[in-house]
Amino acid sequence: YNERLQRTEKMKVVSDLAASVAHEVRNPMQVTRGFLQFLARRTGQDHQDHFDLAIQELDRASGIINDFLSLAKPEPDETVPLSLNEELRRVEAMMSPFAALHGGTIEVYAPGLLRIRGNASMLTQALINIVKNSIEATRDRAGLIRIEAFAEGGEAVVMIADNGIGMNEAQLSRLGEPFFSTKADGTGLGLMATYRLIEAMQGSLEFRSVKDEGAEARIRLPLLERADSSFPAASPVAAEA
Ligand code: ADP
Ligand code: MG
Repeated sequence: YNERLQRTEKMKVVSDLAASVAHEVRNPMQVTRGFLQFLARRTGQDHQDHFDLAIQELDRASGIINDFLSLAKPEPDETVPLSLNEELRRVEAMMSPFAALHGGTIEVYAPGLLRIRGNASMLTQALINIVKNSIEATRDRAGLIRIEAFAEGGEAVVMIADNGIGMNEAQLSRLGEPFFSTKADGTGLGLMATYRLIEAMQGSLEFRSVKDEGAEARIRLPLLERADSSFPAASPVAAEA
């Protein structure tokens, strides 16, 4: 509990900072990027590598700013009834090319219709952050990322399991901490944003892992009550399941 409290305080500090800084920093970076591209064209081949590197580093900085921005906006603008199944299919479609690039595959198994209340872009962002980590953890290992969804005690459960490098206890306990990353090019902000996004939708996120064998994320989100008639009744039979 104490650990959780500490994490919440740290997140508040970072998100306050994020809101004010992120927008201000993004514009000059975009301008700089434009000038670098312009100069690269003018200079010809001589310093191409240096320009490429400079632009790459700028893009990495942009990535950090983007992660910050998703931290700065933890409250959903609007929550609507969502089909979790549809969202999972979307994430599968979006992330499969990235998985394939690293020699991995994504499998989705979600047989029953699961309806939740949430914000599609927040949910997508949270899922992408987790799946991206799984793909990165299975690099060079014929990765299999299995996404499974089912209902359990009034909640929708989404499990994202991989056969990647896994984590030890010390690493597990630091998940969600700002700037905790074991990657050379990591920001260490992805999971922090993810915890915030899921908690903003009244959900929870837990991780389990065995070092060198893989990791499993488990998201729980409140299922939409059946009485909620605002959900478009796609298939009443499936909805009863
Ligand atoms: P980043 O991906 O930028 O490093 P994240 O917040 O997304 O930051 O993740 C933090 C760290 O958690 C990662 O650097 C990695 O060490 C660990 N991690 C997260 N997911 C997994 C996973 N599926 N398998 C192994 N390690 C993981
Ligand atoms: Mg990440």
